[in-house]
Formats: sequence, structure tokens, C-alpha cells
Amino acid sequence: MHSTASDGALSPQALTDVCHAKGVTRFSLTDHDTVAGVTEAQRHAESLGMRCLAGSELSTLWRGIGIHVVALLPEGASGALLSGLEAQARARDARAEEIARRLEKIGLEDALARAREQAGSERPLGRPDFAKALVAAGLVPDMPTAFKKYLGAGKPGDVKTHWPYLSEVVEWIRDSQGIAVLAHPLRYRLTHRKRGQLLDAFREAGGEAAELISGHQNADVGRDLARQLEARDLMGSQGSDFHYPGGPLAPGVMSAPPRCSVTPVWRHPRLARFAA
Ligand code: AMP
Ligand code: MN
Repeated sequence: MHSTASDGALSPQALTDVCHAKGVTRFSLTDHDTVAGVTEAQRHAESLGMRCLAGSELSTLWRGIGIHVVALLPEGASGALLSGLEAQARARDARAEEIARRLEKIGLEDALARAREQAGSERPLGRPDFAKALVAAGLVPDMPTAFKKYLGAGKPGDVKTHWPYLSEVVEWIRDSQGIAVLAHPLRYRLTHRKRGQLLDAFREAGGEAAELISGHQNADVGRDLARQLEARDLMGSQGSDFHYPGGPLAPGVMSAPPRCSVTPVWRHPRLARFAA
């Protein structure tokens, strides 16, 4: 789930309150390329008798494709991961400048300042901030159109060149005794075969799990993915990818996993204390 530490709408504390209201007792806060919201969520979760696992969703590249890796961090972030996250924040700043240059060419004046205004804080900018700026300026009618025309995969505002290689990020995570989870493998529009190659590369790099369920997804493709995880002995995770209230997703609400023999990632030995 995401909070105001990245592109989520709720503060870590408010998000924790929503989880509590939904009956969630264990969750991970996985903001894009940062752990800045984790301490606040953990403190509040503990005061409500819940547990929040430190996490982050890191932006990476594999064969030129933007791939997200969720870090589950029972020991928090340290060493190579901490410096890696600092580098990700700088990469986001450089990327935002490049996105702004490109959007100015299509008519969004002062794009960087407008995206900053939409973010409403000094946190590193993401594509949704630019999407909101395009909507506010009247250049597109809504967010989905902003991504479809300008910010989605392959469009002018889709700047990926600043992200580190997938294997490097997995190494950072392992350096903090974290568990690397491949985020939403079905969202990269890969063929079955290429998705298999991605899972192989991820496993080879030290990745241990993949999201079997992310938000809402079709049961048929879920079964195919489950077989790919079973074949590689990867554990399975589930995430709502919650960003804001009022949409189709809520904390703790996601599609049911397919029947399979994939081991849930919360049975990972390093998560025993969290899951207890
Ligand atoms: P960034 O981390 O800056 O690349 O932004 C990624 C975020 O953009 C995701 O977490 C989504 O919230 C949002 N996003 C990406 N693609 C789309 C899309 N096609 N439509 C709507 N939102 C999207
Ligand atoms: Mn993602």
C-alpha cells in the first residue's frame, strides 16, 4: 500500500486507521522508492494492536522494461539499501525534470512547478503528479487519459532511464536481510515466455517471491502465473496496491488467489516474528 510518503492520498497514520477499520491486523507500507512513512505507520499500528512491516516498492529496469520490486524489510533498511533509496530519490528528481521538459513540449507550461503543486509536499515526484497537472491544466479530461496519451509505457512522459538494474536492487534488499518480491508480474504486458525469463532472472538475482495477486485480477491468468511460481519455487505475495479511498480497491481487499501449492510469503522464516 502507498501513503503520502509517495503517491498515496492518505498519511501513514490515516492509512493505518483505514486498515484498522477494515479489520486488517498485519500489513506492509510499500511506498515508491522510500521508507519515509514507515515509522509513523508502525507507531500508529502498534498503538492499535496491529503490525506494520517496513517495506518499499523500488523502480528498476530489466531489458529496458520498467519493473517494480517490493522489498519486505523485517529488519528495516540499512547499508546498501539506504544509500540505494537515497540514489532513487535523486533519480526521481532528475527524471521529474526530464518529464517536465517533455510535457512542456506538448503544452504544459512550468510543468515541474505544476506537478510540485499537485504533490502538495517536497517528496520526490512521480508520474501521477504530472498526470494530475495535465488534468488541472485542462490538457486531458482525466488521469487515465493522461497516462494513455502522455505518461503510460512508451509515451513521451514515460522516462525510465534513471532506474538501476533489477539485479542491483535485489542485492540492496538482500543486504538489509529483506525479502525481494517481484511486484505485479502480470502488469508488464509480457508474453508467458518472457514473463518466465523475468522470473528466472529475478530468482537468479536472489529474489524470493512474486505477487500472485495485485489488486483486482483475472483468475485465469492467476493460475498460469501460479504455475510459473511453482516451477521456480518462488513464494507468493498478495497486495491491494491501495493508493486512495473511494476507488475500487481498499486495504485488505483483493481478488482470491487461485488454488495452487505456492507458499505464502508470510510463511518466510524471516517474517515469522511479524506474522506471529
Ligand atoms: P512512477 O513511480 O512515478 O513511475 O509512477 C507509478 C504510478 O503511476 C503507479 O503506482 C500508478 O499509481 C500510476 N500509474 C502507472 N500507470 C498508470 C496508468 N496507465 N493509469 C493510471 N495510473 C498509472
Ligand atoms: Mn507498482
